Amino acid sequence: MFDTAIIGTGPAGLSAALTLKMRGKDLIWFGSDQFSGKVEKSEKIGNYPGVGMVTGQELNERFRQQAAELDLKVTDRMVTNITDMGSYFMLLADNEVYEARSVLLSTGVVASKTFPGEEALLGRGVSYCATCDGMFYKGKTIAVFCGAARYEHEVNYLADLASKVYLMPAYRPCGISRDNVELITSPIKEVMGTTRVTALRLGSGEELPVDGFFCLRGAIAPATLLPGLKLNGPHIETDRQQATNIAGCFAAGDCTGTPYQIAKAVGEGNIAAHAILDYLAETPDTK
Ligand SMILES: Cc1cc2nc3c(=O)[nH]c(=O)nc-3n(C[C@H](O)[C@H](O)[C@H](O)COP(=O)(O)OP(=O)(O)OC[C@H]3O[C@@H](n4cnc5c(N)ncnc54)[C@H](O)[C@@H]3O)c2cc1C
Repeated sequence: MFDTAIIGTGPAGLSAALTLKMRGKDLIWFGSDQFSGKVEKSEKIGNYPGVGMVTGQELNERFRQQAAELDLKVTDRMVTNITDMGSYFMLLADNEVYEARSVLLSTGVVASKTFPGEEALLGRGVSYCATCDGMFYKGKTIAVFCGAARYEHEVNYLADLASKVYLMPAYRPCGISRDNVELITSPIKEVMGTTRVTALRLGSGEELPVDGFFCLRGAIAPATLLPGLKLNGPHIETDRQQATNIAGCFAAGDCTGTPYQIAKAVGEGNIAAHAILDYLAETPDTK
């Protein structure tokens, strides 16, 4: 059982991880070895104190170095589900279960919208996790939305199992070329089905009959990740201690609202870390 699970390796997650590590907490930190794709993509950053005018790549590299100096390790896994167990949390990441007394959501803002029908059919043919659910589609026909080239290994895993894969990559060029994988260029209009996924309707008007639909994106909407989480529009609602409506769950950075800025993310990550320290001190470890 970890003291804290931090989800997100952007500036908010890093800021919290540094403080919690320096205060001797046992933490697991999920995200990407690349840290923040958003920071990396920023051409020039001139409003973050102490570093002058830097490129996003330079700042992201400094973030990586600072984490390494404190021996902070990133678990390069996508958290696909969090369950509130009352006195602790269970997290699912790439088919592995982790337990933590508290959770910090620092997942950034979810840029991509869900497809119509996707949320209603989640767990009933719609999946966000190839390694968790792939086995259920052995010999079947599936569709896969692949949000970035870094998820292609998951598409390959699914193509090893399914008899037929309709692949919708959100980027070009796509590095997958296999006999049982058909590239679809028409956009997805709707995930169809009543009790289970039955088909995908495309922009071309065509309907593709499928047994399942995998959505491999870089982010999962907060309410899907942790059911019961109170939102304010697309953002997670928090108080001034970065606490959410769920005891032991905190949120920081872009996921809590605008302005989408590095300094704001770092500040909120720091506040959240201190609130987590208080929460851990006040809440007995009952498990
Ligand atoms: C082009 C561009 C230019 C910008 N320029 C500036 C600027 O000049 N100044 C400025 O202050 N800000 C700028 N920003 C905004 C800034 O980058 C963001 O405000 C900041 O990165 C937010 O930090 P964050 O930690 O909240 O989220 P992010 O940096 O988005 O990090 C989120 C992390 O969470 C991970 N993650 C998400 N979901 C999961 C999950 N389920 N499981 C595991 N990991 C997950 C992601 O992989 C990522 O590592 C710019 C942004 C862009 C896109």
